[in-house]
Amino acid sequence: MVKKQLTRAEVPDELKWNLKDLYESDEAFESAMETFKTALSDFEKNEGHVTDSGATLLKSVSEVDQLNNTVQRLYFYASARNDSDTTDATGTKLIGEIQTVAAQADTQMSFFETEVAALTEAQYDALEAEEPGLKEYRRFLVANFIRRHDHMLPLAQEKILAASSKVFAGAENTFSMLNDGDLKFGEIEDENGEMVELTRARMAVFSESTNRDLRKRTSDLTRKAYDAVQRTFATTLSTHMDGTVLKNQLHHFATAREGELFGNEISEDVYDTLIATVREHLDGQHKMNALRKDALGLDPMYKYDLWAPLLGDPKLKFTFTESKELVLEALKVLGDDYLDGLKHEFTEGWIDAAENVGKRSGGYENAVYDVHPYILLNWSDNFDGLTTLAHESGHAMQSYFTNANQPSQNSDYPIFTAEIASTTNENLLMDFLLEKNADNKEIKAYLLQQSIQTFIGTVNTQAMFAEFEHQAYQQVEKGQALTADNLDELYGTLQADYLGPAVSVDKKANSGWAGIPHFYYDYYVYQYATSMAIATTLADRIYRKVPGALDKYKTFLKAGSSQAPIELIKQAGVDVTSRQYLDDAFAVLDKRIAELKELLGK
Ligand SMILES: [Zn+2]
Repeated sequence: MVKKQLTRAEVPDELKWNLKDLYESDEAFESAMETFKTALSDFEKNEGHVTDSGATLLKSVSEVDQLNNTVQRLYFYASARNDSDTTDATGTKLIGEIQTVAAQADTQMSFFETEVAALTEAQYDALEAEEPGLKEYRRFLVANFIRRHDHMLPLAQEKILAASSKVFAGAENTFSMLNDGDLKFGEIEDENGEMVELTRARMAVFSESTNRDLRKRTSDLTRKAYDAVQRTFATTLSTHMDGTVLKNQLHHFATAREGELFGNEISEDVYDTLIATVREHLDGQHKMNALRKDALGLDPMYKYDLWAPLLGDPKLKFTFTESKELVLEALKVLGDDYLDGLKHEFTEGWIDAAENVGKRSGGYENAVYDVHPYILLNWSDNFDGLTTLAHESGHAMQSYFTNANQPSQNSDYPIFTAEIASTTNENLLMDFLLEKNADNKEIKAYLLQQSIQTFIGTVNTQAMFAEFEHQAYQQVEKGQALTADNLDELYGTLQADYLGPAVSVDKKANSGWAGIPHFYYDYYVYQYATSMAIATTLADRIYRKVPGALDKYKTFLKAGSSQAPIELIKQAGVDVTSRQYLDDAFAVLDKRIAELKELLGK
């Protein structure tokens, strides 16, 4: 049965976000854009004089901050109009207009970055002593520009690099075209005996099917498609890595990892501590796989069996209204001020909930400073819907607390900390649901399995990816060629270590590296693992009401980007340079595996 999708006009207002909080109308948006263009050309008068004196720097940086705020607000209005209904020509027109203006602004404002990055920290200190008003912008200026001083090339050379950016992006673009466009997986017979095209969405559904033959055929078709173009994938990945190594060498970094982590103010020992500690705790993943093998009665058990449900699928259903109530109840442990924030979110037009014709898929949160956070969802009444609401609410509440406590220049949160608040909520929701369903064996087993798989699929698997990525880069830096064969070997060896003896790894599964887009994001994946481990640890402390844990967490939520990421997380009570937070997170995993084992009578 196919449920007909609503058109945008048919969606009731209470399920739509209220964009009038940004601009009263499209006309008001257009006139704000004209005002912005005028401000932009006024700003250009600062060119060549940004660092003349403390006063000129303060004037320029506060104008930059204003312009950034305005362009973000304009951009979000246009993209929200477009995302909510891509079939609406007005939305398409608005997004086109703001994209042009934003690109112009980037070019017209670029002198600011160049002039500020030319300052040494000592020169900046002198300007700040002359103009104390700069103090408020110190973190913003130092973190984003001045600390890069020693890694900047002379202006003419930076210009050559900027002009080559499309060439450097070529390998990633080729990868995306092939992976998301040209690669086809063919047709497959589904559970109802119907021939359907194997899309990525169906791949995800079929790999969780209770029908083992369907899981196997899905896996076979997927691997077959990848194997046919494996050498091309090896070439796009190695070319991309060559480019990253070169750019970092040119900017005076010893290695690609040093340069990429420097960009996010993360020290390399955070990376090494993660991998070494996850490796010491691999027995959890091995135990879970052995339990799965035993419970499903499979010998041998393959990779395509790892997502099959252990006790059937209880098909949990939650409406949007019920989910909001459950999220409020689950997050009560975060205190009254947090619940107040959530009530604003749930009742004041922050969320665009319903699915409709032409709406962008998935979900996201976007906060506009001086306005409020917005959330886009494509609601469906299931466990995933409920979890996504808790997740995006975590982002929204971090923005809500940060925007109320930080000036706009410190209101963005750094990438390293961005997923902590969202996954802390997911973990708290899980604790709450497990307690609530303590007497329902089927639901409890389903929840435990979800939580264990999410943890392993995030902390362990992303640590494995991080290890793969780093070893591949080290090969490139030693001047060794990356071929499909040696990438398969590298991936296969790691996979065998992580999956453990209960899983028989078919050689074909060793090419799993080929379709992973995140290897083109340059030392990015490790942050999924660190975030999930931090969030698991924090949620566990908050849930168990460890004294001081909640207050520290609130301090973190209010801090935005006012300090370096490692310092921000320290405020929440976690030191990511030491292994303790990982040990604590794995203790939670071990506890859940033991509970599941007991529940299954194994
Ligand atoms: Zn998120």
